[in-house]
Amino acid sequence: MIIRIAHLYPDMLNLYGDRGNIIALSHRLKARGIEIQTEKITMGKSFNSDDYDILFIGGGQDFEQDVLLDDLTKGKDAEIKKAVQSGSVILAICGGYQMLGKYYKTYDGKMLPYIGAIDFYTEGKEERMIGNYAYKTKEGIEIVGFENHSGRTYLGNGVEPLGKIISGFGNNGEDGTEGVRFKNTFGTYSHGPVLPKNPEFTDLLISKALENKYGKSDLAPLDNTLESKAKAQVMKLYIKK
Ligand code: GLN
Repeated sequence: MIIRIAHLYPDMLNLYGDRGNIIALSHRLKARGIEIQTEKITMGKSFNSDDYDILFIGGGQDFEQDVLLDDLTKGKDAEIKKAVQSGSVILAICGGYQMLGKYYKTYDGKMLPYIGAIDFYTEGKEERMIGNYAYKTKEGIEIVGFENHSGRTYLGNGVEPLGKIISGFGNNGEDGTEGVRFKNTFGTYSHGPVLPKNPEFTDLLISKALENKYGKSDLAPLDNTLESKAKAQVMKLYIKK
């Protein structure tokens, strides 16, 4: 078995070690004897989303998001949209998450029209939302992460969030939602990176990718002792329930 991962804009969108998400995916796939192939899709490089099982997009500052807008509209937008609609597994973090929505208006008024793959939009405010935070998915997975964003994201009617906030800001600091979930696309504000801290979430993504490709996903359990201890410690020290 082999899983192919496309890492979009690895050099532009890589805040707080977001590429650690690729390392976590690779680690947990290899531990199950599954081969992985990762390709970096940089600016200027075209890609066909059908060639990959997982797409990963990290987060960035407003500046980088603006710089890569031109490249995004030269074909990557259509490929990402196609991948979202076809149920490919996508993990998008912060600035990468914002890209999947209709637009991001920065706090200083710059309008970045985005790909509109999912019905939501983001508007920035000067005051940033920063800190360790936690939320719970519909499967009951508690995810811990670190958020730092000026953008406030508002989901359209009926659009499912990735989780409900346990502590912290999440999408907008108002409605208790965090991230987005549509088919097998997962958007979130969690940097940190999120997957090494949250092995259950990593396995959820892996399962979806294996189901898509091979029709089944019997994941052998792995020893999560260290990950669980680290997560419990984060919960204890930084998360106010
Ligand atoms: N630039 C965006 C914002 O501030 C995204 C930030 C990020 O990716 N951490 O909202």
